[in-house]
Amino acid sequence: MTDFKLITDAQWRERLNPEEYRVLRQAGTEAPHVGEYTDTTTEGVYSCRACGEELFRSTEKFDAHCGWPSFFSPLAKDKIIEKEDLSLGMRRIEVLCANCGSHMGHVFEGEGFNTPTDLRYCINSISLRLEEKPVSN
Ligand SMILES: [Zn+2]
Repeated sequence: MTDFKLITDAQWRERLNPEEYRVLRQAGTEAPHVGEYTDTTTEGVYSCRACGEELFRSTEKFDAHCGWPSFFSPLAKDKIIEKEDLSLGMRRIEVLCANCGSHMGHVFEGEGFNTPTDLRYCINSISLRLEEKPVSN
């Protein structure tokens, strides 16, 4: 199995297209409302586009009207890493793929959405790849 933590920056540039590289490896953000999964309600599992690890499911996806795919929970807590991000002059919590360290997006809490967790994992579509399949709880 590939150890994704050992992949060099040059190898990531070969594996990903420029926009994927900018978001996944340089913690970029795709423009709102343009991502391919923003309004997707298809049943399935969302994997990390960099390494293929399954991270989120359609059963935890909800419509936050924020312009990016939003989930109230990851598939499992240990699938992701949450890290303080003080860039842009604010305190946010960055969400990374635990398997390869690629940037997924940010998580926000206490926004009052009617979800089981009151968390919003705001994830870039380009960081994900959806596989359509039945999801069981
Ligand atoms: Zn990954």
